[in-house]
Amino acid sequence: MNNFTYTRATSLSDAVNQAVADQNSMFIAGGTNVVDRLKVFLDQPSQLIDISRLQMQQIELMADGSLRLGALVSNTAVADHSDIRRNYPILARAILSGASQQIRNLATVGGNLLQRTRCPYYYDTAFACNKRQPGTGCPAITGINRTHAILGASEDCVAVHPSDMCVALAALDAVVEVESSQGQRQIPFVDFHRLPVNTPQQDTNLEPGELITAVVLPPASFAKSGVYLKIRDRASYSFALVSVAAAVNLEGEQINAVRLAMGGVAHKPWRATAAEEFLIGKSADAIHFTQAAEIALQEAKPLTHNSYKIELVKRAIRRALTISAQAGGLV
Ligand code: SF4
Repeated sequence: MNNFTYTRATSLSDAVNQAVADQNSMFIAGGTNVVDRLKVFLDQPSQLIDISRLQMQQIELMADGSLRLGALVSNTAVADHSDIRRNYPILARAILSGASQQIRNLATVGGNLLQRTRCPYYYDTAFACNKRQPGTGCPAITGINRTHAILGASEDCVAVHPSDMCVALAALDAVVEVESSQGQRQIPFVDFHRLPVNTPQQDTNLEPGELITAVVLPPASFAKSGVYLKIRDRASYSFALVSVAAAVNLEGEQINAVRLAMGGVAHKPWRATAAEEFLIGKSADAIHFTQAAEIALQEAKPLTHNSYKIELVKRAIRRALTISAQAGGLV
């Protein structure tokens, strides 16, 4: 760990102004990923700005029926909240499938969005890595890549985004609120994270100095039937090999609303919009769910060791859609 100064922000404007004044500073809240990275020199900030005491710890029901999750609400508090469990169960299930109880108690909404890939080459500074040091190369492309991307990768990086919560947020049409010295703006969740292209060092579309203040869940009747399926090497405390967030609503026998997102397959949570469009108006049956899974993976490009992910995620999609459709006809 290198030397850095530590400061505790006294207000939102204090936090963003300090970030502008020192462009090599970092925000810290729960620190569950940041401290790991500091310890192995992945991040070497000149200053840590502690935002953990700021007033962003509320879950609020807004006048338009949306639910606003403050950026500092813990993952545990989100998963335990009665409105989340009742109206957005997909989000509670995704959070509870990740990390450990101790980590979820500290990890925050904003921090979950900003956690970085667990590509082993990224964490091992004995290897080159374009995400850690642009232009040095990507050993994962020719190395051990069974956990890496099958969609949206580039010649510069084949890493996947590690979050479970973010897959659910992508399916739920969430919106990210951010604050900077220029004011506030909102970013649709599907546009928040980036594909690697030729700048894999950038995970998100946040501008320098911008701070996440909240994530907003719009009202969504379809969300009550949401399902999160996570496939991993061991039963707990493990990142997804693949995951699927699915929510299906039926009118009679026909699908009138559907959301489908995948995790563990790309540099960002992957929303399968073409498969969603295909399913609208179709009957909720195995044939259509199989066809939707084919559409969702039609652009998949496996690496040497991860072609198994294609069939695995197709089966997970079929299963998640089937379970959700059974629930969606009842809510
Ligand atoms: Fe680095 Fe990305 Fe390659 Fe992993 S996949 S070694 S994070 S450039």
